[in-house]
Amino acid sequence: MAETIDRLTNETVELLQALIRNQCVNDGTAESGFEDRSARLLRDELEGTGVDMQIFETLPGRSSLVARYKGTDPNAPALCLMGHTDVVPVSPEGWREDPFGGDLLTAPDGTQEVWGRGAVDMLNLTSSMTVAFREIVKSGKRYPGDIVYFAVADEEAGGTHGAKRLVEEEWDALKCDYVLTEYGGTPMRTDDGVIVLMTTAEKGLGARKVTVHGSPGHGSMPYATDNALVKAAEVVRRLSEYNPGPRIDEMFAARVKALGLPEETQQRLLDPARLDDALAELRPGLARNLHSCCHMSFSPNMFNSGQKNNVIPDVAKLIVDIRILPGDTQEDVDRHLRTAIGEDLMASVELEAIYPDGVSTASDTDTPLWSALADSIQMAYPGAQIMPSMVTGGTDARFFRHKGIPAYGAGLLSPKVPLGEFMNRFHGHNERIDVDSLKLTTQLWLDVADRLWV
Ligand SMILES: [Zn+2]
Repeated sequence: MAETIDRLTNETVELLQALIRNQCVNDGTAESGFEDRSARLLRDELEGTGVDMQIFETLPGRSSLVARYKGTDPNAPALCLMGHTDVVPVSPEGWREDPFGGDLLTAPDGTQEVWGRGAVDMLNLTSSMTVAFREIVKSGKRYPGDIVYFAVADEEAGGTHGAKRLVEEEWDALKCDYVLTEYGGTPMRTDDGVIVLMTTAEKGLGARKVTVHGSPGHGSMPYATDNALVKAAEVVRRLSEYNPGPRIDEMFAARVKALGLPEETQQRLLDPARLDDALAELRPGLARNLHSCCHMSFSPNMFNSGQKNNVIPDVAKLIVDIRILPGDTQEDVDRHLRTAIGEDLMASVELEAIYPDGVSTASDTDTPLWSALADSIQMAYPGAQIMPSMVTGGTDARFFRHKGIPAYGAGLLSPKVPLGEFMNRFHGHNERIDVDSLKLTTQLWLDVADRLWV
């Protein structure tokens, strides 16, 4: 048994390294990603097992792989293991190691870590899912339900050429009743024992194109002109200072509890009147995450104005990333934006929703899959409690949740990386994962399969 898991861990490490080195960088354009490289690599990994596989090329060079291992009972629910193969771009100058080297390095405390873009988002899960799936197929062990393996492109740009499209157009290949995907499994030691967070919900997309109008003029005579860029700068300033107010719900309370913070800090974090002061005293990574878990968030991220150095711009365009909480609507977003920007500036501003259907999604925990996860974590963390949590970003889980299919973000991590530090590695510099976490996650998928259909 111990030998098997060591062999599987090595396979996960090697596959993770290969996926990192494939550099399937998705910069948001349709011409990026090149996930075909990893789809073919993963197909080769499963080749020879006899499992049914299909590659779907949604755009030239952008492929996703679907494999299905048949169960014994056509009426039993099917489980889908979904991992994306694309990663976000890097700023190499911020890294201590080669972001696409996939190196296995030993930290000063002896921890072995795989370095590179995608090591936590989410090639660690994709590689471990592949290894666990292959192990199940090779073993010949049959479960009642099918196991669907889905290595998907384009998650990092909203799934347009990946999960969204394939769920809409290739449901026969993908059909399933449960989904496991990114991410979860951070163990937190608290006074009540270990708490392990798994994702059951995610914030919705409320991003807006904000167009600010002014009047053109000669750049040599700026006095008392109506410069769109100057007004846009004020829009950005007001947005950055805007506080839409917190929403303290049960999921937020569970998250606060799971952090194991001093009792007094916990109470302040759950009190709207004292929340801001309590956040200011926390480590920035942790405070950032908690703030987003209880607020609609506004981040002005892209900007464009002007045509020539001597022309006062009559138009300035902003893109504001906005993430909405469960229950919030696109109308709520506009209402907050009008308040934040103010009536005086709104007269010059047009708002356009980038994701008009963007809503927060959530899955119920009253399912056999949730119970299987709760049981499975006992192997690594005896007595641990599983708790639902929300991610602030978007994941491909939402396309399945829209169809009423429970989708959880899972995984299982070693206690080496505190939650705040772990969150900072998502899309951050020096992304890496320790080998113990890869081992625990690989084992988790096998344990869940053993428990789901009993
Ligand atoms: Zn991801």
